[in-house]
Amino acid sequence: MSASTGTLYIVSAPSGAGKTSLVKALLDAQPQVRVSVSHTTRAMRPGEVDGVNYHFVSRDAFLERLAQNEFLEHAEVFGNLYGTSQRWVEQTLDEGYDLILEIDWQGAQQVRRLMPQAKSIFILPPTQEALRQRLTNRGQDSDEVIEKRMREAVSEMTHYVEYDYLVINDDFAHALIDLQAIFRANQLRQSSQQRRFEGLLKQLLA
Ligand code: 5GP
Repeated sequence: MSASTGTLYIVSAPSGAGKTSLVKALLDAQPQVRVSVSHTTRAMRPGEVDGVNYHFVSRDAFLERLAQNEFLEHAEVFGNLYGTSQRWVEQTLDEGYDLILEIDWQGAQQVRRLMPQAKSIFILPPTQEALRQRLTNRGQDSDEVIEKRMREAVSEMTHYVEYDYLVINDDFAHALIDLQAIFRANQLRQSSQQRRFEGLLKQLLA
């Protein structure tokens, strides 16, 4: 990686914690931050766009890429395979962008092993009740389906201890400020500032 490499962030959350909306709002405000588009074998949901939300691929195509060592990390989540393109991650960081991986705890463990400098953030809902409400699809799902989602969410949340930062998404605006603070503090690190203000520092110390 070059000297101007960006910072890699891992963002995980149980579904229903508001992770995707928070990351989207963060990206709108921070032009130097990119988000990785994962490959997945799951079916496209209404409104999703191939190449934007995910690269939607067949199981065979995914396994072929896996065999070619194309993934930095991969995991099976709820019966579907997900993976992050290693080449894209390296290129984007080399270009100096900060990069977010929206991945589950299994992928987070793999990335931490390979790139220990990565910063990891876990987003939590404010209460179990709020989570249950967000997982309830306007009364369209059975109690059984909702309870299954709740159990999966609680199981995902047990991994919060493995993360560097915790953000509680009680109020969206506050959670966004917290998330921005994490990114801003990292951008202000002396080593990053030194790169950004090379000219100024030279001039000040002349
Ligand atoms: P969804 O299918 O609802 O978009 O995502 C389901 C879960 O898969 C979420 O926890 C999401 O963070 C995770 N996920 C999405 N992309 C990846 C990926 O590339 N790698 C891993 N390990 N998990 C992913």
